[in-house]
Amino acid sequence: MSVVQVALPVPILRLFDYLPPNTHGAQPVIGGRVRVPFGKRKIIGIVVGFQERSDLPETQLKQIIEVLDTKSLYPPPLWRLLHWAAGYYHLPVGEVLKQALPVLLRHGKPAQEKPLWQWIITKKGQTTTLESLKFAPKQQQALAVLRHQPIYRHQVAEKNLNNAVLQVLRNKKLCDLREYHQPQQQSDWRTRFIIKGTQLKLNTDQTIAVGKIRNEDERYAAWLLSGITGSGKTEVYLSILENILARGKQALVLVPEISLTPQTTARFRERFEAPVDVLHSALNDKERFAVWQRARRGESAIIIGTRSALFTPLLQPGVIIIDEEHDSSYKQQEGWRYQARDLAVFRAREENIPIVMGSATPALETLHNVRRGKYRQLDLTRRAGSAKPALQQLVDIKGQQLIGGLAPVLISKMRQHLQADNQVLLFLNRRGYSSALLCHDCGWVAECQRCERYYTLHKKQRQLRCHYCNSQCLLSNQCSHCGSTHLLPVGVGTEQLEQHLCTLFSGIPVSRIDRDTTSRKGALEQHLANVHRGGAHILVGTQMLAKGHHFCDVTLVSMLNVDSALFSTDFRAAERFAQLCTQVAGRAGRAGKQGEVLLQTYHPEHPLLQTLLHQGYLAFAQQTLLERQSVMLPPWTSHALFRAQDRDNHQAAEFLQQLRKLLEANPLKDTSVWLMGPVPALQPKLCGLWRWQLLVQHASRKRLQQFLNNALPLVKRLPAAHKVMWTLDVDPIES
Ligand code: ADP
Ligand code: ZN
Ligand code: ZN
Repeated sequence: MSVVQVALPVPILRLFDYLPPNTHGAQPVIGGRVRVPFGKRKIIGIVVGFQERSDLPETQLKQIIEVLDTKSLYPPPLWRLLHWAAGYYHLPVGEVLKQALPVLLRHGKPAQEKPLWQWIITKKGQTTTLESLKFAPKQQQALAVLRHQPIYRHQVAEKNLNNAVLQVLRNKKLCDLREYHQPQQQSDWRTRFIIKGTQLKLNTDQTIAVGKIRNEDERYAAWLLSGITGSGKTEVYLSILENILARGKQALVLVPEISLTPQTTARFRERFEAPVDVLHSALNDKERFAVWQRARRGESAIIIGTRSALFTPLLQPGVIIIDEEHDSSYKQQEGWRYQARDLAVFRAREENIPIVMGSATPALETLHNVRRGKYRQLDLTRRAGSAKPALQQLVDIKGQQLIGGLAPVLISKMRQHLQADNQVLLFLNRRGYSSALLCHDCGWVAECQRCERYYTLHKKQRQLRCHYCNSQCLLSNQCSHCGSTHLLPVGVGTEQLEQHLCTLFSGIPVSRIDRDTTSRKGALEQHLANVHRGGAHILVGTQMLAKGHHFCDVTLVSMLNVDSALFSTDFRAAERFAQLCTQVAGRAGRAGKQGEVLLQTYHPEHPLLQTLLHQGYLAFAQQTLLERQSVMLPPWTSHALFRAQDRDNHQAAEFLQQLRKLLEANPLKDTSVWLMGPVPALQPKLCGLWRWQLLVQHASRKRLQQFLNNALPLVKRLPAAHKVMWTLDVDPIES
């Protein structure tokens, strides 16, 4: 007897044994799906192995109900990656294997396309005269059509025939039905692959980078392409792809957010005569599944997608590219909290292909990996083409009369640039009209009870909205504390800024680009098209505008408020701010015109701003890495964060306290483990849940993993463990 080991998507860290199905039909295979009984339910799991016998007596074993696949759904490198990841993130393999599949497969849809059925003519049908059917005109007509060509069963109606008539012909042996498998189009694009579109003449930096990567592009190598904004990184990716695609290999390109960078996608499409598949958020499950299949069959040459596209199976992988590798969207922030960049490097090694991580502002983790010799760094230090670096300047706004958050110098600079028929980009990371609504008479501030955070005023919609939990309520004209009608908006948001701009610069078009103005489908494209049309124009935007956009006519960029990041308690805030600031500044002067950047601050002397401005991002990064080394923070050490939440602001802390005791005492005790907490989370309350955390730090990633492996089975036995919702976040990016 053999026992089938199945990984199930249930929160239990083990595999489950089942008996093979009774039938003579399809038998389970490793990497294929099976439907099995689990408790009272029937669920889908993945076969991971076979064993001679089970630890359970055979009578207790249940039987597999149905075998869904006869071939593995996971190419071996992906299979190894997912197994490793389940261990690293301390999750059940079944959960991880499931998340790597398209939704339709998780729900049991067949992985192979169903064969199509075709009506075809038989020998007898060829030779029988049409004359002989003259008393059955419908049959006669059908036979006549079939003599010309076979007809798909699903297209019978389109040809004015019907299946009943064809069935009669079949009974007379004049025609027949056959399964028709669509021909594999695998080699199609490879045979007609060409490089179209214009190839730019690479500059020296680009040439060196491309040369080095090409030299080793048939085996694993991890590259950091560190190139300032506008230095032509995308051009380097495209050049690397030439050779890879010409060899018939596929490329996987990860980007932070596709809807924001339609231009990048377009550049891949324009350059190559080869199918490009884009996995963007607007695709439905069926379309995603189709992309998954095309990639797996080798029919797509380039697959561009966000974080989860990393799990796309490839028939002939050739390279992985991660654009804006520092971007925080590569870290999944719920459920399986994986870091796609790290997993991509692991996958590249397993596939034995190169991986190129590009950024103007590399993550400190990545730079650290360069130092340790794990990745190799290539630099693009100059802007491509004729573009010059932008001039940067701090504006001290202490004691200044601000209009809509704008200092007088900024306003006059804006006038200059607009008069020269250029465009101005104002960056303000705060949607809505104002960040709070205050009662002038009693000091009351409208607050979301569920999160204990101020409501943001959205004036046009007459709403107060919580930007933490998305709850909203109608704006009232009266203070709910004292009844006064004297309510003041405090803190300028993009909606208010837009209003001020329209008065200050009447006649100049203003485009506000944030989540509120672009939620409608096609709205972002429309805004961007307006901007690209050129001429004097003011853009107001949030985070959305910082990423990857290439606006030819923007010459002045300003960040209206840089201070909030300078005093955060999160040790990563400085890194994030430096990245954002550099990226935003990088939107200025990208096409030959001289760009200028103004940063408004109350603290122009702040060392972070000084380093960033005078020495640049990489100098800031090296300095920050040294600081972190001196206090033993990541990437010099490894973190794992236990998060817990409750509804009464008691149990979560209680659980973490018990956990801390457990981790500190025998048998787990490890003197090189450092614990911090329990402490309230950065956002202590969200959607009515109180959130607490306990941080585990270790100098060795390996030993931290072992420590957690030993600890987790014991954690589940803690008395409070079942009273709270808790999770473990390995390599958290917020703590
Ligand atoms: P990045 O991705 O580093 O921000 P891009 O690849 O988008 O930079 O390049 C910025 C601009 O410079 C684009 O308009 C691109 O067409 C142009 N460019 C890139 N490389 C060259 C080159 N070698 N010669 C001329 N223009 C270039
Ligand atoms: Zn809220
Ligand atoms: Zn009041």
